[in-house]
Amino acid sequence: MWLTVLLLAALLLAGLRRVYLGLFGGNSPNPFAEDVKRPPEPLVTDKEARKKVLKQAFSASRVPEKLDAVVIGSGIGGLASAVILAKAGKRVLVLEQHTKAGGCCHTFGKNGLEFDTGIHYVGRMREGNIGRFILDQITEGQLDWAPTPELQAVLSYIFPTYGVTPSHTTFSMHALLVDHYIQGAYYPRGGSSEIAFHTIPLIQRAGGAVLTNAPVQGVLLDSAGRACGVSVKKGHELVNIYCPIVISNAGVFNTYQHLVPGSVRGLPDVKKQLAMIRPGMSMLSVFICLRGTKQDLKLQSTNYYVYFDTDMDKAMERYISMPKEKAPEHIPLLFIAFPSTKDPTWEDRFPDRSSMTVLVPTAFEWFEEWQEEPKGKRGADYETLKNAFVEASMSVVMKLFPQLEGKVDSVIGGSPLTNQYYLAAPRGAPYGADHDLARLHPHTMASLRPQTPIPNLYLTGQDIFTCGLIGALQGALLCSSAILKRNLYSDLQALGSKVQAQQKKKMK
Ligand SMILES: Cc1cc2nc3c(=O)[nH]c(=O)nc-3n(C[C@H](O)[C@H](O)[C@H](O)COP(=O)(O)OP(=O)(O)OC[C@H]3O[C@@H](n4cnc5c(N)ncnc54)[C@H](O)[C@@H]3O)c2cc1C
Repeated sequence: MWLTVLLLAALLLAGLRRVYLGLFGGNSPNPFAEDVKRPPEPLVTDKEARKKVLKQAFSASRVPEKLDAVVIGSGIGGLASAVILAKAGKRVLVLEQHTKAGGCCHTFGKNGLEFDTGIHYVGRMREGNIGRFILDQITEGQLDWAPTPELQAVLSYIFPTYGVTPSHTTFSMHALLVDHYIQGAYYPRGGSSEIAFHTIPLIQRAGGAVLTNAPVQGVLLDSAGRACGVSVKKGHELVNIYCPIVISNAGVFNTYQHLVPGSVRGLPDVKKQLAMIRPGMSMLSVFICLRGTKQDLKLQSTNYYVYFDTDMDKAMERYISMPKEKAPEHIPLLFIAFPSTKDPTWEDRFPDRSSMTVLVPTAFEWFEEWQEEPKGKRGADYETLKNAFVEASMSVVMKLFPQLEGKVDSVIGGSPLTNQYYLAAPRGAPYGADHDLARLHPHTMASLRPQTPIPNLYLTGQDIFTCGLIGALQGALLCSSAILKRNLYSDLQALGSKVQAQQKKKMK
């Protein structure tokens, strides 16, 4: 009897050892062996210098030789995975379909001002917080954060941050977000393009590259069904790039419904995973250029959540099921931010001017009929609908901030189709897969992992963890851990302890 128990225990231990070695038993170098943080250098504002890093257009001749991995997409999930692999000595190529690198972290210019695409505030950026520590290590401390005024943790104001109303999500999702912002929020000094600007050089230093204007059309498979590269559209041609590992930051839907070959889309594991999730809520953005400084316009360094109802579940359900013509009159909530007030470098870069962004939840179906039309040529009916949302939002803005009367230089609207075009976000859903109960079910969360049913193809970014800068960054850590077969969380913890010990020694 005891012999049987001992034998079973030995078998169990051998099994566990095999699992551990399979997951973390690689002999890849530790990308977090040394603390690489150094004091931030002055902000680079020269447009040409920034363009050289953020807008390197794809051409076959720019593809480095002997690649170790290709990453599809340059959001934080893609860039962070690439940097971590680069820090472990890998040569990585990142391919971005848009003309600028950064995904939801890219910025764009309109009427002489700069707007963020998708970063308004980020929590837990105090020295010593894990998110800050990781970002310091993958940017060598060059990404600097400015605190905004403390946020009030009102119980349910925060649900638009993950895109579903309170009754459709888990308490843990909500608690995670409240906890994330409980110590206040931060904004990247110099705007959110700083994130890509300071990660790309680390990828280049290891022999890799980040090339834009590089829409990946498909993942290439070898005769054994393993991922072995990607094909990129260049004009009317397809350029094939071969490498042993392919990482997709394009999200689960783009990857499984468009990028993998048709034969793979029918695999039971792929179908099962797609059946568990759906694209999240889509969003319309209003970008407003203002005349005057934050002092002139009496603007605070904060975000405003504006609700017109107390029962948000009912209000959102009613709104989303409305015909599109009626919806603009019944917008149930707005998110209003003044990015210019949060960035300490703004006044030097854009004197006497300010910026405002308003986000409006929308149903993709309202805009779906124009999705095949080319950008800029979607016709008068599309513009009328988009403008109806813009005007409804502006009338609320003017009531809340009457001091802005006569100070508005220009207003631009971006519909869910705009998100689809610039961010390649399926159905204009900027947060990836919906953060509803089905997605947050432990079974779904466990199945949404970097490893895919296709050998050598990995997933990274917000669909692997949760949305948000830090959520997508966690996706990158999980993805890089899987590829390097290292527990990078342990590596980071060890580095953190080492840094703390060094700091204590210095203080003595
Ligand atoms: C309007 C808005 C406001 C937000 N506000 C905040 C906030 O205040 N704080 C916060 O923490 N988070 C915020 N978020 C969420 C956060 O920005 C995202 O969750 C996170 O940045 C997603 O990162 P990612 O790397 O997973 O994906 P993305 O940043 O979406 O990157 C994916 C990239 O893949 C590219 N791609 C897709 N398909 C292809 C292809 N076939 N070939 C080549 N490239 C391809 C896309 O162009 C894109 O660049 C906001 C998002 C939006 C849109």
